Amino acid sequence: MSEAESRFARSRTMHRFTARRVTVTHVVEIEHFTRVTLSSDELGDWASTGPEDHAKVFFPDPETGVLAAPTPAGPGESGIVRPEGPAFGRDFTPLNVRTDPASGHRVFDIDVLRHDDPGPAARWAEEAEPGDEIVIVGPRGSVGAAVAAPSLLLVVDPTAFPAAARWIEDMPDAARIHVIADVDGPLDWVRSYLAAQSGRDVPVSAAGQGENGLAEAVAQARVDADTYVFAAGEAGRLVPLRRLLKQELALPREQWRVSGYWKSGTVNFDHHAPIDPADPED
Ligand SMILES: Cc1cc2nc3c(=O)[nH]c(=O)nc-3n(C[C@H](O)[C@H](O)[C@H](O)COP(=O)(O)OP(=O)(O)OC[C@H]3O[C@@H](n4cnc5c(N)ncnc54)[C@H](O)[C@@H]3O)c2cc1C
Repeated sequence: MSEAESRFARSRTMHRFTARRVTVTHVVEIEHFTRVTLSSDELGDWASTGPEDHAKVFFPDPETGVLAAPTPAGPGESGIVRPEGPAFGRDFTPLNVRTDPASGHRVFDIDVLRHDDPGPAARWAEEAEPGDEIVIVGPRGSVGAAVAAPSLLLVVDPTAFPAAARWIEDMPDAARIHVIADVDGPLDWVRSYLAAQSGRDVPVSAAGQGENGLAEAVAQARVDADTYVFAAGEAGRLVPLRRLLKQELALPREQWRVSGYWKSGTVNFDHHAPIDPADPED
């Protein structure tokens, strides 16, 4: 194992991959997000142990209100059966995984950002109520935090604040952490969100809003050989940053991860699609 491989090693765990019906138990508006609490007796062997975990959450058709969603392949088996016709699945980061003492069921939250041009997810969250039923698929697996890294740089827009909070929570106290937030405006709410969610106050600075704002902010932050970089948010804004990390700084592949969480103007962006069409290779 190379020095970079051991410094930035991340554990990998696979989970049973199936579709699970979950019920909304609580809805609360927090700054910029709607927090929806989901619970089910189908979450017994469900797990989410990595900071970038995501569940594909299936919402009703915003026009008809009908929920088309995958179903389990078979009792106790891995696999799903996809519905015929359109289904409205979007990715969300599970937060605050816990057991409800009253029901004994597993419970977790999703923080759904209120955004312009809302799609089925943002529209559903606006009107969600306790008792509503939806379906989740995944996480299929969890990749743990880079806990041996002496330093962590998070470059995130609001859709990835839940993931950033999980990263901060999972890192050892001794790790140095810096967040570059892709937010136009005051950062107080970002600091409060991350501190409340992770239990730790970390420095947060802003990226410039120009086309190269993220890359410029990271270049200024000076990524050294001790620093793991996780970046996620609007896919187009991540392209110059990815080029900086991969080509200009030529960081070892183990030292960074850049993930497009949504793309301006694209409905249901596929986060497995290459971020940089000029360099589709991982
Ligand atoms: C791994 C992963 C984890 C994620 N975790 C979270 C999370 O915890 N919380 C969260 O809020 N989001 C999260 N996202 C992003 C979320 O899945 C997308 O923002 C999704 O597109 C929202 O669905 P929608 O139905 O509201 O909009 P869509 O139907 O997908 O899109 C409708 C329109 O809204 C635009 N749009 C989508 N997202 C945004 C946005 N953030 N700001 C402005 N315009 C937008 C689209 O470009 C499109 O024009 C995550 C994505 C991934 C890949």
